[in-house]
Formats: sequence, C-alpha cells, structure tokens
Amino acid sequence: MMIIYLWAILFFLVMFGQSALLIWYSWPVIRRMVHCPWCWQSCHIMKHYPARWSSSMCPHHAQRIRAQLALRRVQRLAHS
Ligand SMILES: [Zn+2]
Repeated sequence: MMIIYLWAILFFLVMFGQSALLIWYSWPVIRRMVHCPWCWQSCHIMKHYPARWSSSMCPHHAQRIRAQLALRRVQRLAHS
C-alpha cells in the first residue's frame, strides 16, 4: 500500500518540476506580454500601468506598429 503513496509523491514532484521549468523558460515571454502598454491602453486601464515597469511590446503590437511605420514610409515616399 505504501508504494502507491510513494508513486503519487514522485508523480507530483515530477509534475511540479516540469511546471517550474516551463514557467522559468517562458517567463521572459510572459513578462513581455504583460508589460505591453499598448495592451493596457486597448483595455482602457493605462492609468493603472505601474510606472516602475520597463515597457516592452508584445508580438501582436510590435507587428502592428511595424506595419504602421511601413505604411507611413510608403505614404512619405508617395508624397515626395
Ligand atoms: Zn500588446
């Protein structure tokens, strides 16, 4: 009977270790998503954005702003 408990403890230890590793490796990505001021702005909670955070851009907004810049560049070239 004892062996079942041992297996259960081992199982939970391995599971805990795996999730810890997963969080450890994906932490920069998570931080990048959470620290995106554009996301906060689009959720209308920009006034709660902590000032001490260094702002970073999530992949979605990075792509959007790159597209905007490209559009502006094309428009400038068309006008000149
Ligand atoms: Zn964003």
